[in-house]
Amino acid sequence: MDTQDFQPISGMDLPRFAGVPTFMRLPHVALTDPRIADVDIGLIGAPWDGGTTNRPGPRHGPRQLRDLSTMIRAQHGVTGVRPFERANCADLGDVSPNPADLLDSLQRMQTFYSEVTAAGITPLTAGGDHLCSLPILRALAANAPVGMIHFDSHTDLFDTYFGGTRFTHGTPFRRAVEEGLLDPSRVVQIGIRGTAYDGEDRDFAKAVGIRVIPIEEFFDRGVNDVMAEARDIAGSQATYVSYDIDFVDPTFAPGTGTPEVGGPNAFQALQVVRGLEGVNIIGADMVEVSPPLDPAGGTAWLAVSLMFELLCVMVPGSGAASGKT
Ligand code: MN
Ligand code: MN
Repeated sequence: MDTQDFQPISGMDLPRFAGVPTFMRLPHVALTDPRIADVDIGLIGAPWDGGTTNRPGPRHGPRQLRDLSTMIRAQHGVTGVRPFERANCADLGDVSPNPADLLDSLQRMQTFYSEVTAAGITPLTAGGDHLCSLPILRALAANAPVGMIHFDSHTDLFDTYFGGTRFTHGTPFRRAVEEGLLDPSRVVQIGIRGTAYDGEDRDFAKAVGIRVIPIEEFFDRGVNDVMAEARDIAGSQATYVSYDIDFVDPTFAPGTGTPEVGGPNAFQALQVVRGLEGVNIIGADMVEVSPPLDPAGGTAWLAVSLMFELLCVMVPGSGAASGKT
């Protein structure tokens, strides 16, 4: 592995506010670029919020996350992990959605991620709303169901909206279970809270064997105990990590469409990701950041900080080993 070509631009060489922003100031390597063969982890933008049922805006997420990610440095402040020296990381650009056609957007995303997977690249995605996770799972779990560790204030396990619509950002994991993309016995949902229309989603979780850890239990037991259980549920097999920014309390992450009060603070939000150490992560996403609702950029800054935390547990030696290293 030659990491020389895949180092982020240092703020010591070019000020952080200068230059064309890519995720974490990494090189932009498109799928058609010959260098793609050397990429281990691909940071990808999914600028699409066609599954949003209330306040929109995550289609603007990747662009703002790239901008704020220029503040990320190369070394983790607590663990000392230097992820860009452990794996070749690159910004693969954005998957191109069709903002006027939901089903076409899902197909475009699935096709893009199938190419990413075929190239042996582990994707770390910036959404986009939570429906983006479905086409990603369709690509990653094409051959066998995977486990999932899911941080969110919602289960996203609802069946239909508006009298029969099956694809919204409240339904991706219901569809993923039905399509055989997720092994429910290896799925855990952490942080669930807020008002509800009914308990239909929780009934489905119980019926298929998905473990739901509501926020009351999360705070009663504490981060370390909950994450130990999450690691047990995921086991050593392939596991996807999905992180909805509304997992975090809206005091710390107000820039999202469906906030729920009474959630983890920014430190706890980072801590849960450190608890993924050792999990066999085959891909991860950070979704539901809505820049129009985040005028000061604080939500986006937390989100890219969480993406760096995710990267640090995705690189070899810190969790999953990618195909090429
Ligand atoms: Mn969600
Ligand atoms: Mn949510």
